[in-house]
Amino acid sequence: MSNRQLIDLRSDTVTSPDEAMRRAMANAEVGDDVIDIDPTVDRLQRTIAEMLGMEAAMFMPSGTMTNQVAVRLHCRPGDEFLCEEGCHIYNYEQGAFAQLSGTIARTVIGKRSVLSVEHLQDLIRPDNEHAVRTRLLCLENTHNRGGGVVLPIENVREVTAWARTQNLSRHLDGARLFNAVVATAVSAAEWASNFDTVSVCFSKGLGAPVGSALLGPKAMLTEMRRHRKLFGGGMRQSGIIAAAALYALQNNVQRLAFDHLHAKILADAVQSSGCLSLEPETVDTNIVIFRVDQAGWDAGQFCAAAKERGVWMLPFSRKHVRAVTHLHIREEDATKAGKIIDEIAQNPPLKS
Ligand SMILES: *Cc1c(COP(=O)(O)O)cnc(C)c1O
Repeated sequence: MSNRQLIDLRSDTVTSPDEAMRRAMANAEVGDDVIDIDPTVDRLQRTIAEMLGMEAAMFMPSGTMTNQVAVRLHCRPGDEFLCEEGCHIYNYEQGAFAQLSGTIARTVIGKRSVLSVEHLQDLIRPDNEHAVRTRLLCLENTHNRGGGVVLPIENVREVTAWARTQNLSRHLDGARLFNAVVATAVSAAEWASNFDTVSVCFSKGLGAPVGSALLGPKAMLTEMRRHRKLFGGGMRQSGIIAAAALYALQNNVQRLAFDHLHAKILADAVQSSGCLSLEPETVDTNIVIFRVDQAGWDAGQFCAAAKERGVWMLPFSRKHVRAVTHLHIREEDATKAGKIIDEIAQNPPLKS
């Protein structure tokens, strides 16, 4: 079976632009966004800023860059930020905050990936020459390693309000913020209003090929642009890719609800198998993580067996497999993948 025929559940980043998105890219009006501005990038930045109710936005090549520019905006070398143990900024960005900005992460294990004031309140460093300075709180919504969990809005309000009283800046890694928006009655602007800066990705569930935006106050724009250039993110006729992101914002937000529905189909198959278990137990959005060890499988072997049967997933640990739905996955794909996952679970390799 060629890779193109597989039901690809590795990530929501595997999508490719459809005809209409490609047409928008081909027809994009462009300029040089380093010399001054690219009109399509400018339009994207205004659009996303308005959607999140924030003053300013800056388009960058990746979510790693928007997060790392945010850390650098809020922290100086020798500063520390607080974050949840499983978060992307800490685990999946090569410790860029240390490598590039001389800052330290203090990780905290949340309850089902959710941090509360109780977890955080004793972690502010005393103001003396022995200690780094605690400057920033980073949250992630939806939480990737947490299985796409949506942080409860009351929790976000409470924790960020506390951070403000401690003079901590507040950054949201909202790579999948629109999944949280569609899964709740909480608007993007309502989520964003609790933070100083917010990062969103266009290349995840929204289905654009490239790009993320960092949002924040106008007063930070000059520094944001300086740091983007420093990290190599100054792009010239980037309107070509910004056009795809704009198209995604206009067409692919509400349809995330289908991805969530399809993730539930997969989750139901996992639950009804009797030998696999969801971890976390609930599936809020488009990510499904499940344990295969109790069915007699190693996660890598399980994924290899599934791929042979036409379902492409990634091991998330030795015991865990992750499946992510996205705009190329139809209901029948999810149903079929669920059946195959169940069949594999029922037939573990003979134990030696
Ligand atoms: C994907 C992702 C990012 C950014 O990843 P890039 O591949 O650099 O765009 C950041 N945070 C989370 C939670 C993510 O899932």
